[in-house]
Amino acid sequence: MKYVVIGAVAGGASTAARLRRMDEKAKIIMFERGEYVSYANCGLPYYIGNVIKERNKLFVQTAAGFNSRFNIDVRVRNEVVAIDADQKKVSVRDLNTGREYEEYYDKLVLSPGAEPVRPPLPGIQLEGIFTLRNVVDTDYIKSYVSKGTTKKAVVIGAGFIGLEMAENLHDLGIEVTIIEMGNQILAPVDYPIAAIIQQHIRSKGVTLRLSTTVSGFENTKGQLKVLLKDDTGIDADIVILSIGVRPDTKLAVAAGLQIGNAKGILVNEYLQTSNPDIYAVGDAIEFANPISNQSIITYLAGPANKQGRICADNIVLGNVKKYEGSINTAIVKVFDMVVGTTGVASKHLQALSIPHKVSTTHSGSHAGYYPGANQMSIQIAFSPEYGRLYSAQIAGFDGVDKRLDVFAVVIQNKGTIYDLLEFEHAYAPPFSSAKDPVNMAGFVAENISLGILKVAYWDGANEAEEGDILIDVRTEKEFEAGTITGAINIPLDELRSRLSEIPSNKKVFIFCQVGLRGYLAQRILVQNNYNQVFNISGGYFLWNTINKEKLLIGSSSLMK
Ligand code: FAD
Repeated sequence: MKYVVIGAVAGGASTAARLRRMDEKAKIIMFERGEYVSYANCGLPYYIGNVIKERNKLFVQTAAGFNSRFNIDVRVRNEVVAIDADQKKVSVRDLNTGREYEEYYDKLVLSPGAEPVRPPLPGIQLEGIFTLRNVVDTDYIKSYVSKGTTKKAVVIGAGFIGLEMAENLHDLGIEVTIIEMGNQILAPVDYPIAAIIQQHIRSKGVTLRLSTTVSGFENTKGQLKVLLKDDTGIDADIVILSIGVRPDTKLAVAAGLQIGNAKGILVNEYLQTSNPDIYAVGDAIEFANPISNQSIITYLAGPANKQGRICADNIVLGNVKKYEGSINTAIVKVFDMVVGTTGVASKHLQALSIPHKVSTTHSGSHAGYYPGANQMSIQIAFSPEYGRLYSAQIAGFDGVDKRLDVFAVVIQNKGTIYDLLEFEHAYAPPFSSAKDPVNMAGFVAENISLGILKVAYWDGANEAEEGDILIDVRTEKEFEAGTITGAINIPLDELRSRLSEIPSNKKVFIFCQVGLRGYLAQRILVQNNYNQVFNISGGYFLWNTINKEKLLIGSSSLMK
């Protein structure tokens, strides 16, 4: 058997190594047009920021290492320029010599990855404007910022890589502005979670400009400028373009392989393309999302690596393993905070007309009485009928990763909010509370599901109207420090004795700081014959965070 793999980083390298473990006798050739194989793309921003100090730590394996350990013929700086699917051969250009040659295969694997989007804006070719995808890009950026003349950076695009670059450049002492066309950072997460992180970014002295569109670039007398659609501009010594990537499907298209609606290479559950002798993995493929059923592309290292293993087993053993699709579990450190997401966000469920409910909870990362506990905000979305968990998003400081992974497992296993209630975690005060934030998210979701807890969402599903009652059940001191306009203050502990102040024929909106006291107040009112009582989801903390962000981009307040 002769296996040929195109692309030698995340998906390609994983596939090739597993092919060898499964088939000692096969001839395996892996082509890579770049100079490096199997390197840590995900570590590149941290190498630029000097967090990873040694360049060689980025390289998981070398071409020579692949050869000696796996007996794989790795050909770097060799680009596959065409696939002849009928003849089962690839044409290859040796980029060192310019020589072109052919290699036949029995099975071919495509893992060409994705390429950064570089829109044809005026001035885009000017010096100092970079994208970050590979080691070569990294070396350019690193040597550019190391010159010491880089004082101001503009990062265009507030996705995962954009935020990592913003943090790393800021930590090098560079003044950073992030420009984002959308009205929030991190498109895969819902607004409340994004808003929390936006406030954190601003608190670090980074300028964050949302709903802002770049129209081009110019260089006047040696000064690079990012031009904006509103006819203003921002001076920059370096620009990082991180506005997204698109699957590299050139070879696949030319070979006549089927391309899907998301413009990725279409594969079946065995990761086989429309040609049975050609498989594909990684950023270049599209596959049905297990929650929405929508065919999507996943740009993540974990799925690419795991697909590599499945793909190799299917090639050697004959389509024995099914790929179930990715739920897009992703996490990013943003200065002192961490934000993570898994599943399909509420806004995307809404766009797909998938009915769902949302719950937002704030819990301590571990027992409040043990030093160092931090607040963690969790938003989950679930089906109204059976409580199937559709997504979870978390913004917090520590312990975000472990909770996110628990949610991811539940979602992957098509579990429900009831699995969250039952989830038994490792508990001692430094690590969690007797009821973990995951349990808390489940408890609140169950209450919402059963109608025990009626919530009003920040975006106005149940906005307070003229004549409705808005009660802040926090203490007088908290109330005086800031509240929602129009709210009256009845602290929770006084509520039972002050019921006469609350008309029972009106809609009552309640809030506390994070939602718990609001829930307790709601239970008191409901059991005293108040029928229309809503707890503002996420409490004053979330309302205030979102309101601050909304005001910054010129939207109106949330409560009428
Ligand atoms: P790649 O790993 O990009 O490999 C594709 C390779 O194919 C490339 O080296 C390319 O040169 C080669 N190639 C393409 N065409 C040809 C051809 N015709 N001939 C020969 N070779 C070819 N994901 C996460 O999950 N977490 C993270 O924290 C994270 N951070 C990231 C940070 C950065 C800066 C970047 C760029 C990506 C990050 N990712 C992260 C995404 C992750 O790296 C990708 O999802 C993953 O690498 C995709 O694997 P792949 O094999 O599809 O593509």
